[in-house]
Amino acid sequence: MSEEKKIPYKIYLNENEMPTKWYNVRSDMKNKPAPLINPGTHEPMGFDDLRPVFCDELIKQELDNDTPYFDIPQKILDFYKMYRPSPLVRAYCLEEALGTPAKIYYKFEGNNTSGSHKLNSAIAQAFYAKEQGLRGLTTETGAGQWGTALSMACAYLGLDLKVFMVKVSYEQKPFRREVMRTYGASVTPSPSMETQIGKKINAEHPGTTGSLGCAISEAVEVATTNEGYRYVLGSVLNQVLLHQSIIGLETKAALDKYGIVPDVIIGCAGGGSNLGGLIAPFMGEKLRGEKDYRIVAVEPASCPSFTRGVYAYDFCDTGMVCPLAKMYTLGSSFIPSANHAGGLRYHGMSPILSQLYADGYMEAVSAEQTAVFEAATKFARTEGILPAPESSHAIKAAIDEALACKESGEEKTIVFGLTGTGYFDLVAYQKFNDGEMSDFIPTDEDIRKSVSLLPKV
Ligand SMILES: *Cc1c(COP(=O)(O)O)cnc(C)c1O
Repeated sequence: MSEEKKIPYKIYLNENEMPTKWYNVRSDMKNKPAPLINPGTHEPMGFDDLRPVFCDELIKQELDNDTPYFDIPQKILDFYKMYRPSPLVRAYCLEEALGTPAKIYYKFEGNNTSGSHKLNSAIAQAFYAKEQGLRGLTTETGAGQWGTALSMACAYLGLDLKVFMVKVSYEQKPFRREVMRTYGASVTPSPSMETQIGKKINAEHPGTTGSLGCAISEAVEVATTNEGYRYVLGSVLNQVLLHQSIIGLETKAALDKYGIVPDVIIGCAGGGSNLGGLIAPFMGEKLRGEKDYRIVAVEPASCPSFTRGVYAYDFCDTGMVCPLAKMYTLGSSFIPSANHAGGLRYHGMSPILSQLYADGYMEAVSAEQTAVFEAATKFARTEGILPAPESSHAIKAAIDEALACKESGEEKTIVFGLTGTGYFDLVAYQKFNDGEMSDFIPTDEDIRKSVSLLPKV
């Protein structure tokens, strides 16, 4: 007990303890993630193939399966200092409320205006675009966190930004839009009538509320048809997981400071970037055979790519213009039900995490949204932070794990990623508080349909 008392409520790192390199988990994977391939020829995409779409330095990071560490450029380290380290918090109050012997820690990434971990990669991607002398960037955003993060990063570096925002979010989250505009970005609801692909999708699916896949297609079209612009993506890609390794490196440094070794590491999974980042150094130890951890991905039951999808090459976007990625996917035509309010709407999953999952290095569970909001409410009332619905998937799984410890009497150490705050998700909270939230689970037939449209590779 006296040992335990020494662990502060929040574990911070001093400036000289901060990571100065990102860790590339691919360097320790025996089975590397499958390469992106050309949708026409099915040949692996090399540096030159990707240049029209992505920034040069980011392509190098994307394709590098071997370099273990990348120096974080000074300008990015300086930006990180404005909001990092993020605190690693011992959830004493939640533990007490649950009556569990488990020790629960969460790494809170919501301590910046954009309100999520996405800023960690946004600033990196904007930096390399600026270095290359580009005029601006295009991107998609779903719930709005990525667009907000990128608009902050672009404002800091003086880059133009055009954001295609999934229509359902554009309508449900007008305040997100205003934050982005305040940072100087232009925001268009997707599917729009401003691009060829947007017009096509609107004609084929009248009244569609959009999807990340549609918005990606539009953003790529605008980037590739405008001089001095490139497209950037906030999740899924290898480069994004590389940048997000800052989360896991800080977490590990903080735990090591107090000799804490986690038994279970839990994160929510949309495209896989926060989870990939959180687990990176721990997974590295596991891959090198040095340590073992249980690693759990939590996804919504309404968009269950790991737990009910297939591991196959698929389009990253609905418009089928992007490279194909091998990943757990529900099919690029899969659009989660409009009643799904909890984020994590992407049909696919990071190729790195997909390979690790296929090789048995991690587990996945799904959670229904009412149960997720119950967990979110419990967390808000005990730990004080109003969590993002996405993050609350991890809270739900962490609570379940802690309650299982209560049953078994095990004193496991649980670490989970609290990826952001829920201030812009109050429409979803309102639905939950009014008892109007329902669960939606796609049928096997729904999934079979979209999976049957996968490209034949
Ligand atoms: C975007 C987002 C996620 C999901 O994205 P990943 O790439 O899977 O991490 C989770 N939580 C928050 C708060 C987000 O903004």
